[in-house]
Amino acid sequence: MRFELETAYDELRRRFGEWARRDEPLARHCTFGVGGPADIWLSLDARADLIDLVTLSVQHDWPLLLVGNGTNTLYADAGVRGIVARIALNAYRIEEQTEQDALLIAEAGVSWPRLLNELAPLGWAGLEFGPGIPGTLGGGVVSNAGAHNGNLGQVLQWVEVLDVRQAVMQNTVPPVVCYQHDELDLGYRHSRFRAQRRVQYDERGFPIAASRARIEPQEIIMRLGVMLHRDDPQRVRATVEAHKQHRKRTQPVQQSAGSVFKNPEGDHAGRLIEAVGLKGYRCGGAQISERHANFIVNVGGAKAADVATLIKEAHDRVLSRFGAHLEMEVELRGEWGE
Ligand SMILES: Cc1cc2nc3c(=O)[nH]c(=O)nc-3n(C[C@H](O)[C@H](O)[C@H](O)COP(=O)(O)OP(=O)(O)OC[C@H]3O[C@@H](n4cnc5c(N)ncnc54)[C@H](O)[C@@H]3O)c2cc1C
Repeated sequence: MRFELETAYDELRRRFGEWARRDEPLARHCTFGVGGPADIWLSLDARADLIDLVTLSVQHDWPLLLVGNGTNTLYADAGVRGIVARIALNAYRIEEQTEQDALLIAEAGVSWPRLLNELAPLGWAGLEFGPGIPGTLGGGVVSNAGAHNGNLGQVLQWVEVLDVRQAVMQNTVPPVVCYQHDELDLGYRHSRFRAQRRVQYDERGFPIAASRARIEPQEIIMRLGVMLHRDDPQRVRATVEAHKQHRKRTQPVQQSAGSVFKNPEGDHAGRLIEAVGLKGYRCGGAQISERHANFIVNVGGAKAADVATLIKEAHDRVLSRFGAHLEMEVELRGEWGE
């Protein structure tokens, strides 16, 4: 079925008002600061709106891409065709279970730094390794985000998803499904939600985006349960602060998407990239950071193609010198073409 852009836009304007925008530059919605337009852009902060949009997209066969804060995403210069919707559902509550433990029930769009700022003074610990992770908790589940020897999987109890896989085939309302921790296949920067989306490299060495379903992702994380434990508020605050300061010392200040590559077993991607002489190497407005070689930064006016060229260069050189194949941590989205 053809995507009737203007018809879809009119319908979305009727339903979501000015929240629906045409030709919105994705560079505004990702921390790399690169990427062309989304045909239609929406930011959703209510669960009912998310379910409505997904159901409408199933019914009309609209192409839909759901994202979080765009802190682990490289959008193509040609942008994304169809609708891109940011999951900005940001409510949470804490259910005390015992004097020592509580279950945090958070919507997928809750931002990690904001949450920590609010949990630390209350003396709830468990997520304090993450003040430097600027994404949403939903995005964090996808990659099992982590830092400072902690990761979300260590405290994650369950995840609630909107499952469009059957709904698309049968043109029905997508069901809400709950997965327990053991069903999530959590590993180092990995979960079941990423299994089909590993970035590959073409024969010239450029990264290629994973193929896209009409509605992507097919399992949309809406809510999650995280186990917290009581700790001294001063101590939680001090840990959060120490992690923040460590970041300031070791990571670049320019726009980036954090670590570009996963660390190969027993080594560090940054060390390998530095060893092949690429620290500070530039392509257009993108640069392999002088401070941390596993970061690619936008030093001004970078294009997604510049970033992709640096990814190719780092991957090629590390492969030929060390025989190590660097797997990407950042995801590619949009119309990458040739
Ligand atoms: C300066 C900096 C430092 C960083 N440091 C770290 C770090 O220490 N550790 C670490 O792990 N990461 C780090 N990151 C990367 C990033 O913040 C995490 O991967 C984060 O979890 C991504 O969340 P997001 O909401 O921005 O996801 P996005 O980039 O918006 O999305 C990533 C992918 O997940 C999918 N997705 C997003 N939300 C959902 C949802 N609700 N349901 C289903 N799929 C979804 C999207 O379609 C996309 O494919 C860093 C990034 C930056 C910019």
